[in-house]
Amino acid sequence: MKKKIIAYERLEQPVFEELQREYDIRLFHGIDPRNNREFLDFLQETEGVIGIRFPADSDMLDKAPNLKVVSNVSVGYNNLDIEELTKRGILATNTPGVLDDTVADMAMGLMLSTARRMPELDGYVKAGKWTGTLPNEWYGTDVHHKKLGIIGMGRIGTAIAQRAHFGFNMDILYHSRTPKPDAEERFGATYLGLDDLLAQSDFVCLITPLTEETRGLIGMREFQLMKPSAIFLNVSRGSTVVETDLIEALKNGEIAAAGLDVYIQEPVDPSNELLQMKNVVTLPHIGSSTFETELKMAELAAKNLLAGLNGEKPVTLINPEVWKG
Ligand code: NAP
Repeated sequence: MKKKIIAYERLEQPVFEELQREYDIRLFHGIDPRNNREFLDFLQETEGVIGIRFPADSDMLDKAPNLKVVSNVSVGYNNLDIEELTKRGILATNTPGVLDDTVADMAMGLMLSTARRMPELDGYVKAGKWTGTLPNEWYGTDVHHKKLGIIGMGRIGTAIAQRAHFGFNMDILYHSRTPKPDAEERFGATYLGLDDLLAQSDFVCLITPLTEETRGLIGMREFQLMKPSAIFLNVSRGSTVVETDLIEALKNGEIAAAGLDVYIQEPVDPSNELLQMKNVVTLPHIGSSTFETELKMAELAAKNLLAGLNGEKPVTLINPEVWKG
């Protein structure tokens, strides 16, 4: 009998078809995983899960007694309770590295479109309002030669710094748990404490993982430390920011604008006040959403899954203590 695999939420078609040749794989998409009978029955016998946002907590894992591996098609793994998976001897994997350039491209696009108000101006042209010389109330603000503060100088943070420094002549300030001599050498980046970074940056870009330490990292106190002209960008996870404080900070002029790819609730609630604000550019969590990169991520995730199912060590294993060699 073929081993059972769950493709959770999304899996690129070529990868799904490849797995289908040898496994009994089923895609579950847009379901309530705690109450969907068909899903829960299949989960009972499933040995591997591949996909995005599978909520691997103790309650869900109780319903998956045969599970050997959970393979995230993402670098972030805040959906996985790693302690619980490790305790149960279940391998957890993610897809670091293959998406860095794509996410960094998006972050630069978000920075430019927020600073230069591109979505607003797109609406202006398409609404037929461009009937004469552009009034200066529509001007944006420069990106080049400004100070960019990156919170989280990891793989993606470094790719953002590279683009900003070499492409836009920006001065790079950064904050992470540990200094990064390599980034200092390559981009002349300056390591600062969080408060100093917030006070000095023209653009603040948040790109840390969501952990217990970073949950709510940026709230009202932090917005008040930023310049009133600052543009804040969140490409990490929604819950690294206190969203109600962000809304207040934008209303009160603590900061000038925000570019957001992520939200506390996704898909974002249509009544979220952020969606009504002209100085906020919103994207639907598209950091890695290109054909090329999503395929690379799915291929790496499948490699990890197959290794886990076949007693081999996955390439990008999050909890190596589970690996018994
Ligand atoms: P990474 O290489 O592990 O880098 C993470 C960076 O965050 C590291 O520099 C780390 O500092 C820093 N950091 C962690 N905890 C911190 C804290 N408490 N305070 C300050 N800095 C902290 O990860 P990555 O591959 O760049 O990915 C980062 C995150 O981006 C992912 O986890 C995911 O949530 C998010 N992401 C979003 C999208 C999207 O679609 N918007 C796409 C991909 C990824 P140290 O090096 O000093 O430990």
